[in-house]
Amino acid sequence: MNVQSDVMMRNQSTTYPETRERQSLYQKVMQQFNKAADLMELDTDVRKILSMTNNEIVVHFPVKLDDDRVEMFTGYRVQHNNVLGPYKGGLRYHPSVDLDEVRALATWMTWKAALTHLPYGGAKGGIQIDPAGYSATEIERITRRFTYALGNNIGPEYDIPAPDVNTNSQIMAWMLDTYLTTVPPHERQRCVHVVTGKPLEAGGSLGREKATGQGIAYMIETWAQEHRFSLDRATYILQGFGNVGSWTARLLKSYNIKLVAVEDVTGAIYNQDGIDVDALTDYVNDHHGVAGFPNSVSVDHCTFLSTEADIFVPAAMQSQITEQTAPLLNVRLVAEGANGPTDPEADLVLSRRGIEIIPDILCNSGGVVVSYFEWLQNKRSEFWELVEVDTKLKQILMRAYQSVKDKAKEYETDWRTAAYIVAMTRLERVYKERGIFP
Ligand code: NAD
Repeated sequence: MNVQSDVMMRNQSTTYPETRERQSLYQKVMQQFNKAADLMELDTDVRKILSMTNNEIVVHFPVKLDDDRVEMFTGYRVQHNNVLGPYKGGLRYHPSVDLDEVRALATWMTWKAALTHLPYGGAKGGIQIDPAGYSATEIERITRRFTYALGNNIGPEYDIPAPDVNTNSQIMAWMLDTYLTTVPPHERQRCVHVVTGKPLEAGGSLGREKATGQGIAYMIETWAQEHRFSLDRATYILQGFGNVGSWTARLLKSYNIKLVAVEDVTGAIYNQDGIDVDALTDYVNDHHGVAGFPNSVSVDHCTFLSTEADIFVPAAMQSQITEQTAPLLNVRLVAEGANGPTDPEADLVLSRRGIEIIPDILCNSGGVVVSYFEWLQNKRSEFWELVEVDTKLKQILMRAYQSVKDKAKEYETDWRTAAYIVAMTRLERVYKERGIFP
């Protein structure tokens, strides 16, 4: 059977139509982009190029389930731009995954890599699936078949996936193993960097699993130092207790900051005296969610969002802080762990209310930075100590933080727009230097 029978690749040349009645996620990204492009007077040709994705790959592929039934799945990989280097970005397994969502997430990856000065372009992908409905062996077969269907659309020097929502190092190991079977035996050792976020034994890097949370912790620490704000006994609320959320919580413990409310897909919990992060981590491992955690009370979504605290770390899905929910927040800082948690209209509400934001493309960029370190170690057959990974990560993030701060001052604008301007200035310069073929 031809597994790539339904691959569609297209190069875009016009603007996208509205795909839903409400503003789509991609349109939200473009709203942020246009605001920054107007302010910095981005070159009109570069603006046209960056407004579109390079390639959009959709694959439909069959997988045999445990009960011998065959089910068809739909997977996506969108490659937004690769002027700075190979495409890079995560893979998400979630029912919400569609072309629009992946397009938006791929575009954010381009800005993120440009902002942090990584030699990467932006991509994202995923499968439209609720993984909770499948066994581990089915997820393995789905992952392997998806990897095979993507074929040469991914590659160690071309497009390098990594974990995102509902994917992890195990899934990266299966992808690696499957990809390697498709290349000649003598080339296999040169292809281990086709995915990052791998288990250590399969070529992963120390510090990669915690990297996004580590970056968020560095950002909060730096913000607090600059505002002469003591984190000792300060409070925060956290949405999402997966890779990003749980690592952020574990790393913030060293600052003695108190976690007072957590929400995930199973519900929200609250304890004004502080939630024991280690106990919650164990509990979530056993119960697959925060609901029912002892020594806490269950609260509803609005009560969770209204919880009085110093900091809110959204680390779940996009569009959680909307025009409707932004007025509920009772914090002074939003440190964005998730991609796109705040809608453009909500940005305005938070700004009016004096709530500061460390924007996603800066705040959660630790993950792609350490993915880059993993990729480099694989290419050079090196293995870095954790202290080396963390030191280099902090250097890169602090440089990005400072450049956003400087641009915000120069343009008298908010930090999200400033972060975009830093990223787009770099991309604009490259296009100016290289020119447009032919
Ligand atoms: P994950 O699958 O490990 O965890 C997701 C968490 O969000 C889970 O706790 C889940 O219960 C919760 N969640 C899902 N839907 C929710 C909802 N509607 N309301 C409340 N909670 C909900 O995923 P992750 O890797 O931690 O990614 C979380 C976010 O961080 C995503 O936006 C992702 O794109 C972004 N991100 C991840 C990385 C990374 O390295 N994994 C890097 C940068 C950004």
